[in-house]
Amino acid sequence: MKILKFGGTSVGTAENINKVISILDQQCKDTNIAVVVSAVGGITDKLLEAANLACNKDLDYLQKYDVIWSIHNSVIDGLFLNPEEDKLLQKQQDNLQEIITDKLNDLKSLLNGIYLINELSPKTKDKLLSFGEALSSTIIYYTLQSRKLDAALKNSQELIVTDSNFNNAIVNFEITNGNIQKFFESNTNAIVLLPGFVSKSIHGEITTLGRGGSDYTAAIIAAAMDADELQIWTDVSGMFTTNPKLVKQAAPIIELSYQEAVELSHFGAKVLYPPTVMPVLKKQIPIVIKNTLDPEALGTTITQNAKSTSDSPVKGLSNIDHIALLTLQGNGMVGIPGFSKRLFETLAQEKINIILITQSSSEHSICFGIADIDAQRAKEAIDKIFEYEIALQKIDPIVVETDLSIIAVVGDKMKNHQGISGKMFSTLGKNNVNIRAIAQGASERNISAVIHKNDVKKALNSLHEQFFEIKTKQINLFITGVGNVGERLIEQIKQQKAYVKENFKINLRIAGLSNSRHMIVNDEGINLKNWKTQLENGEKASLDGFFQHAKNLNLRNSIFVDITANDAVANSYGKYLKESIAVVACNKIACSGNIEYYNELKQLSRQYNTSFLFETNVGAGLPVIDTLSHLITSGDKVNTIQAVLSGSLNFIFNNFNSETTFYDVVKQAQEEGYTEPDPRIDLSGIDVARKVLILARESGHAIELSDLETDNFLTDAAMKAVSVDDFFETLKTDEAYYQSLFKSAEDKNCQLKFVAEFNDGKAKVGLKEIPEGHPFYNLKGKDNIVMFYTQRYPEQPMIIKGAGAGADVTASGLFADIIRIANN
Ligand code: ADP
Ligand code: ASP
Ligand code: MG
Repeated sequence: MKILKFGGTSVGTAENINKVISILDQQCKDTNIAVVVSAVGGITDKLLEAANLACNKDLDYLQKYDVIWSIHNSVIDGLFLNPEEDKLLQKQQDNLQEIITDKLNDLKSLLNGIYLINELSPKTKDKLLSFGEALSSTIIYYTLQSRKLDAALKNSQELIVTDSNFNNAIVNFEITNGNIQKFFESNTNAIVLLPGFVSKSIHGEITTLGRGGSDYTAAIIAAAMDADELQIWTDVSGMFTTNPKLVKQAAPIIELSYQEAVELSHFGAKVLYPPTVMPVLKKQIPIVIKNTLDPEALGTTITQNAKSTSDSPVKGLSNIDHIALLTLQGNGMVGIPGFSKRLFETLAQEKINIILITQSSSEHSICFGIADIDAQRAKEAIDKIFEYEIALQKIDPIVVETDLSIIAVVGDKMKNHQGISGKMFSTLGKNNVNIRAIAQGASERNISAVIHKNDVKKALNSLHEQFFEIKTKQINLFITGVGNVGERLIEQIKQQKAYVKENFKINLRIAGLSNSRHMIVNDEGINLKNWKTQLENGEKASLDGFFQHAKNLNLRNSIFVDITANDAVANSYGKYLKESIAVVACNKIACSGNIEYYNELKQLSRQYNTSFLFETNVGAGLPVIDTLSHLITSGDKVNTIQAVLSGSLNFIFNNFNSETTFYDVVKQAQEEGYTEPDPRIDLSGIDVARKVLILARESGHAIELSDLETDNFLTDAAMKAVSVDDFFETLKTDEAYYQSLFKSAEDKNCQLKFVAEFNDGKAKVGLKEIPEGHPFYNLKGKDNIVMFYTQRYPEQPMIIKGAGAGADVTASGLFADIIRIANN
């Protein structure tokens, strides 16, 4: 014999009930089956809502009732299509409709009663809740008959006998097992249909087995009958590594031990009602969890000696929502026995279930988690019991925190593995998930943490990545500035995405995109095929709006990428770092602005354990800052830095000679995009000054831009010209001066280079005549070069050389920073 249980979704619509019937039709051919059904999906909640409204004298309960009425009637209509043409079918439908109408009328009378007396006792609640399963089982039974299946309907209340603990009744197995065995002995039908969840007390009053209790009904019958198998049919394909509704990457666990199933279900894997396992465990009956919507899927099999199909000692992650954390604390508690006894006795008297407890060894406080609907009641009762101690200020009034959830990491083999809690908490920490309390069961089968409810999705996703997908890490980018460089970066991400995922197990997604006019966000990742059109149609851009989106999406491994040259954007980095969103900046303003801000960002990056990288600030894609930082962190000290850091100035001085004019060369550089629209920004050396300033700061020297010596080679007239055109005119007028600079260098067989130097704590930039043989002499095109003289490289410098300008290389530099963070 097999026992099959179908949950709310499985019997939630006519379409799904048809799927159930075809499963039953197939299975009853091999063996007798008992079929336990839940209420139609969502009805139990709606019954409760209606009753609460009625109890609060709110007439809206009638509307709720109407909804319950119409849901059942539309299910019936969907199951008996076109009955007019079939007289027998029509009669069966009429019959069913009559019974259902009677039941619904009874329900209405009960609700009216609750409204009148303004009270909803646990006993009345059970009477009310029993309607859900009574209605669904009746509808399915009549449908089975109309489809000519050999079925009987048996009310579980006549079989399952409990105590009078309404809403959560305890089963009397002696009587119950006898009832079940006796009933099935004399039953001859191939299918016996039973409502789940409902039972009766020894005194004959209706009781229920706790929310989600239909699973338990099925397990009780399976154990009593020594069934071959208990099948739990639901709306997902088994017990997953974590709730598949919250974590897309969650996967079904093929095999699970009874103990692991208990642990996962206790800590929130709602797919199995926790008490379900005990009765079948004693008889070693396998539990198979299957998907009614996808019956072919393998599902999960729960047995005693489940084989592990993965290497991970962690089997699953789970969450319990709607948690409140209560803290009892005070100096008067230390070393004095009896506080916890009184505390927990009080909670027991109030019938408040404690989900998690922690106490620090200082004994200064006890902290425990309960369902948040019990929080107020618990506070009142505890404050009352400790009234005397509170008045004497030995302890504080109890502190209640709400809007919390518990997450748990579960696995049988965890006890033999070190480092799981380390991994768990560092993963949560890295993702800015604040942990309010921690508990680890002595069985070491689970480690739980209490966190804010808004962090649950992020926490489960990052832990899932850590324990089950170790191989793929999702990175969520929020990019602002999609000019030349930004566009190249998006292009590179698009091209490399599959490769990076396959080879480096990094899943790169752009979750937010903004230019100065529009912005778009998508927590599933923006489709990069037509990002431009999407952006054009996006919402109006705003710096704070973009930040709020990144914050509220609360995605793990988020990185803010600044590809603007904007002050306000640079000033927003701190906000991101405080949310543990890493920052990658192409923008030089933050690192070359005032030193306090630079130091603050570095400090925030350490405090929040979040990267702040800006490799492209110096030498575009060349690994200059990264190399410098490796030298410094490994204990080296920089003595001198000499560098040519401007691709535009190089281009200009590499092409300027006696055959050309300075005007023509600068004009060409401007036209080809090697300089800023106003070439003076490059020619005045300010950009190079900022770069060497950043290198000096990264070497550990606290200097400001004003401390830098800038040797400007432009004429006064050039600097003072109001417009860019006027500036170009001065180049023509002062051609002789510029030629003299060239001639002086040529006479000494030197090349002109704009050089940045840092030496002995001082930095300067200026035009220099470089003699033949010097590493700068042969610098071509847009190349940059940086020479580090350090304690470890005192004579022969460490040299980094290569293209130091251009959208493509700058975009690769940003890409490299992103990958550095991903690999972190
Ligand atoms: P039923 O109505 O069939 O009894 P439930 O809603 O009680 O279904 O349980 C199934 C739901 O449990 C799934 O839809 C899923 O959202 C939730 N769930 C939570 N954790 C898990 C998990 N680890 N594996 C599978 N489902 C889970
Ligand atoms: N209908 C009940 C509930 O929603 C029992 C069940 O579905 O298991 O809690
Ligand atoms: Mg359930």
